[in-house]
Formats: sequence, structure tokens, C-alpha cells
Amino acid sequence: MTTLARCTSCRAALRPDERGRQGCLSCQEIVYRGLRDLSGRTGLYAALSEALSPSRSGADGPRTSGGAAEPSLGVDSRVLDLMSPTTGVHAVLLSWATDWARLMHRPFDDPRFNSVCRGLAHHLGWAVYHHPAWADFATEIGLQVALCREAIGQAPRRLPAVGTCRTLLTDHTQCGGDLHYQPDTITTRCRACHTAAPVDWRAIHAAVTGTAA
Ligand SMILES: [Zn+2]
Ligand SMILES: [Zn+2]
Repeated sequence: MTTLARCTSCRAALRPDERGRQGCLSCQEIVYRGLRDLSGRTGLYAALSEALSPSRSGADGPRTSGGAAEPSLGVDSRVLDLMSPTTGVHAVLLSWATDWARLMHRPFDDPRFNSVCRGLAHHLGWAVYHHPAWADFATEIGLQVALCREAIGQAPRRLPAVGTCRTLLTDHTQCGGDLHYQPDTITTRCRACHTAAPVDWRAIHAAVTGTAA
């Protein structure tokens, strides 16, 4: 007897070589890339401090949206929130890293940001099989990456539609709305009726690279 298991993030059916995983390989790769993008000297987290430096707060700096009456302090409060030692990106990742170390019965001795990212990236293979909150972790990393990009004015590229919604409406016609992939939550959703659709990586790849069949 076979059980049909699905990725807990994108809901795609797991392939035979993915049996036993909570998340599919593609979602694990997205999380890996997120940790890589956050860390390092040119990573998103380093870019937050860069965005705080006064020399960068001019035309180059993060743009604030909203009303014209917004006071210009030269510093984006979103950047400060993300750098908060208690609730910012570092704190969020640190809490996952200490939790993983505890569950793996491993010592945890280097709380520096890049080291935390490296450690999490290194143990993704364990977490995708064994961590009880893998899907929450995957969503969290995607969210932190998206928040950082937004705060430093590197908003995620708007992706093209990846398909057409086939949800049956109450009048028994198909919705026909555009399906859009949302990287921060690893879901595909209809713009019209907001129904979540299975994530089709091949369709997303084709849409992004402009090679749609
Ligand atoms: Zn997946
Ligand atoms: Zn729809």
C-alpha cells in the first residue's frame, strides 16, 4: 500500500525519491537559497546596517511608501524592526538554531548571525525529515527574506501569472482568474477568487524564464 504524501509547504505530491520528507526538494532549495541570501558580507542582513548609515539615506536609501506627510528621519523604521535584538531577523533565526541544536543534542556555541545561517543551512536535510515544525520554518525564512528585501528597497520581482484558475464557482463555471506564485508563503493563489492551487514548479519556471509552452 502506498500513501500519497504531499509537501507541507507547496502541497505538491512528493515523488518516490522524496518519500519520508515533510517538504519537497524544491522547497528545501528555496529555504537554502533564503539562508544564503540573508547571510554574508553582501547578504540582506548586512544590507540592513548599510541602509542605516547616514551616507546611504539619500536618494539611494530605502524608499518609504505612504503619505507625503510622513516625516523623513532618514531611517526606515522597517529596517530598525528587522535589526531589533529581541524580535528582528537575527533573533528569529537564533531561536530556531537553538531549538534545532537542542533537538539534535548538539552544543550551540556561536550565536553570530552568519554562523547561525550556516548552521541552519547545514542541517536542513535533518530538519526536513525530523523537525516537527519544518513548514513553519520554511515559511519563516521566506518571510524574513521578503521583509528584508522590502526594507532595503529590493522588493521581490513581480512574477507573471503561472496558470489559470480552474475553481468551479457557484454558477458552475470555471473561475478563469490568473494564478500567481507567492514566494514568501510558497503558495500559488488565484488573484480573482483567492483559492490556493497546487504549486507547479515547471509552470513557474516556464513563466519566469518566458518559455511557456
Ligand atoms: Zn514543496
Ligand atoms: Zn480563481
